Amino acid sequence: IEQELYCIGCGAKIQTTVKSELGYIPESALQASLENDALYCQRCFRLRHYNEIADVKLSDDDFLALLNKIGTSDALIVNVIDIFDFNGSIIPGLHRFVGNNPVLLVGNKEDLLPKSLRRSKLKEWMRQEANAQGLRPIDVILTSAKKNNAIDELLQLIDKYRKNRDVYVVGVTNVGKSTLINQIIKQKTGIKELITTSRFPGTTLDRIEIPLDDGHDMIDTPGIIHRNQMAHYLSGKTLKLATPQKEIRPKVYQLNEGQTLFLGALARFDYLSGERQGFVAYLDNNLLIHRTKTENADSFYEKHAGELLSPPTKKEMANFPELVRFEFKTKEKSDLVFAGLGWISVKSNSYIAGWAPKGVSVILRKAMV
Ligand code: GDP
Repeated sequence: IEQELYCIGCGAKIQTTVKSELGYIPESALQASLENDALYCQRCFRLRHYNEIADVKLSDDDFLALLNKIGTSDALIVNVIDIFDFNGSIIPGLHRFVGNNPVLLVGNKEDLLPKSLRRSKLKEWMRQEANAQGLRPIDVILTSAKKNNAIDELLQLIDKYRKNRDVYVVGVTNVGKSTLINQIIKQKTGIKELITTSRFPGTTLDRIEIPLDDGHDMIDTPGIIHRNQMAHYLSGKTLKLATPQKEIRPKVYQLNEGQTLFLGALARFDYLSGERQGFVAYLDNNLLIHRTKTENADSFYEKHAGELLSPPTKKEMANFPELVRFEFKTKEKSDLVFAGLGWISVKSNSYIAGWAPKGVSVILRKAMV
């Protein structure tokens, strides 16, 4: 197409090449749309016809402009994060952009947690981590967008805190924000005109508004890509093999010092020194765990990553970052958290090391169970 076309729903420039970007429409649908004089991008089309929001990714510049806009509005900010990937889902510098606006922190994918995990502890930890980033959430809630858990409570909290203001829902990609918004739309049946033609000033971003009772709106914003996410290095299919998909069944591994566990080829856990103990792993139920001697672990990895140790696949290993090592000594019962994957719980007085792809974080926290 020579001439520039724009979506009549969101105003994004129409393009037929990149599905995950703004203004996408399949080539095959473009002609028909033009003939019908109803040119909607795929995102808006789905929203109109199925009340369903599709993922769109956007550039850092656009996202910064968007955050600036949010900071100057009088609004409640709802920040959705993935409880399995706190570090990969926190928006860097968000606290600087929100201004005086309150932030409600939503920890999504609660359905993956084992029953034994104390929700209150996790919420407390989320609050602490947020504080460490300079963010002081007004409240913290756990939801499952997928299982429709606590969506009612979320809507109640939103109403409690927004005090006749607009609501901006923000989050990085993969946290489940679209799934959550779709649940909200489903719950609030009778909403027809979701699409507005307005844009965030100074950006090429569309905005999707869900009308609230008092003339204000809940505004969904496209998700930003966070580079320090495991999701960034794996294909969609492999990602499903690597990250928890169903409620986690904790597994115990008895290890002596000097033993290592490989989590596929994605990460690695070394027990450096301490008494023999049972380490409890909270990882995807199907993730392949391989035990070996720490002294042989480097060469073992080099030889078997992508094959015996998988995911990632052999092909994906070519672009997979090297593993980086973090060493810890536990002072109390702790969880060694591999961002995006899960965690391994460790007794006190243990020397351990956790390895993750460069950029992906490994942190130690007080045990959640
Ligand atoms: P977005 O990029 O933040 O909009 O994320 P999506 O809504 O596209 O979800 C990303 C992935 O997480 C998808 O595979 C979803 O099925 C999954 N997902 C979303 N919400 C939940 C949830 O509450 N629990 C679980 N287990 N998975 C979820």
